[in-house]
Amino acid sequence: MATSATSAATSAATSTTSATSGGVLLSGGTVIDGTGAAPRPDTDVLIDGDRIVAVGPSAIATADTVTIDVGGHTVMPGLIDSHCHMTFGEPSSNDELFFHRDPSTAMLVAAFNVPKLLRAGVTGFLDPDGISDLGPALRDGIEAGLVEGPRMAAGMNALLTAAGGTAGRLIPDEGIAGYAHVMRDRSEMVRTTRQQVKYGADWIKILVTGSLPNRAGELTVWSLDELRAVTDTAHALETPTVAHCRNAESTRLAAEAGVDLIFHASFLDEPALDAVVESGAAIAPTFTFLANLADHGAKVGAMTTQVDLFRGEIAATAMMLRRAHDAGVRLLCGSESGFSLTPYGHWHARELEIFVDALGLTPLEAITCATRNGALALRRPEGSIGVVATGAAADLLVVDGDPSVDVTILGDRSRLRHVFSRGRAVDLDRPWPERAILPGEKVGLWSERQLTWEIAHP
Ligand SMILES: [Zn+2]
Repeated sequence: MATSATSAATSAATSTTSATSGGVLLSGGTVIDGTGAAPRPDTDVLIDGDRIVAVGPSAIATADTVTIDVGGHTVMPGLIDSHCHMTFGEPSSNDELFFHRDPSTAMLVAAFNVPKLLRAGVTGFLDPDGISDLGPALRDGIEAGLVEGPRMAAGMNALLTAAGGTAGRLIPDEGIAGYAHVMRDRSEMVRTTRQQVKYGADWIKILVTGSLPNRAGELTVWSLDELRAVTDTAHALETPTVAHCRNAESTRLAAEAGVDLIFHASFLDEPALDAVVESGAAIAPTFTFLANLADHGAKVGAMTTQVDLFRGEIAATAMMLRRAHDAGVRLLCGSESGFSLTPYGHWHARELEIFVDALGLTPLEAITCATRNGALALRRPEGSIGVVATGAAADLLVVDGDPSVDVTILGDRSRLRHVFSRGRAVDLDRPWPERAILPGEKVGLWSERQLTWEIAHP
């Protein structure tokens, strides 16, 4: 991969800072460090500012240190959600997403929703593409303290070809709609990639497959040469690329083109697996949306015609992803939060369950996918964030229970005792945010069903 992790002030906090302020000592918990190592009981974790400054049997506290007894609880890195659409505002349909979101309102709604992630234990996330290119401004607003939220890496509009993406003919033939920017030709791919970097994109997102009306599944809608035009341009500007790939061919092409992170990798086959292993690309399968629809969709009136298809996609892909994992491919956990089936703050940990149930990973391996491996999504060097280690970022959870035995605990917000983001405690005691629906936010229906003469005259 030609990209280099940029930002990432990785230097450990100096002894001067820890001596002056005292920091916070999480005392006597069992530490899951995010690397896959066995849990360490009776281990102290000392944080000072935005750094973990000591991990060990008895970290040195000063008179100024605030000590929190976390005996009987688990201390672990905060979750990193590698696939979360913060600007979508939980739409129930593509119509709503594309035609009922104006930029100013979408930003207000995103600012309302983003604190929910922290309160669900998410201390970092990648928003790969957003409507109206809002991502970088939201990221900068969080960093500047305008909005309370996790660390964020932001993409801008997803790049599509005229064949479209995940919304069929709602996607225009060229130009911008919602999260999509439709490329006319190769030169526009190069120019748009450069522009996105200029305007603050951390990642360039490509929709390599699209759903064409009257065709089952998604088809590959980019050529290898076009994918290379984007990845080479992005990499030359030290920016990684992420690709939506809902079939084997697109996954292979993305890997061959040098894409850094592949979403879905659905129906991965042998050539695609070989290409991914060869290229060093990471994969965030993002099964959560499909699994939520399949397992719980009927409870909320979801369209369930595709349930068997989605179950088949998960099963077929999981088997191959297990092999990818065994071959050293980094897997990341992403929830695709941002839709009505994946509302913010509810499902960020479900991908871990699926990694355990469908891929057969151990809970500790799944936790590594949702913590240490997530450094890539945030463009940080591995080991500088998403781990409990001296010098790493102070993003931590204190959990009631043992996620190394049962990862489902991480999806239950009532089990979160403390969340630390950048070394600061998140207030978990406030009521969960509630709001009313805004004018024009939802697709208005004349009726749910046709009023036939027979219904009117039973
Ligand atoms: Zn997505």
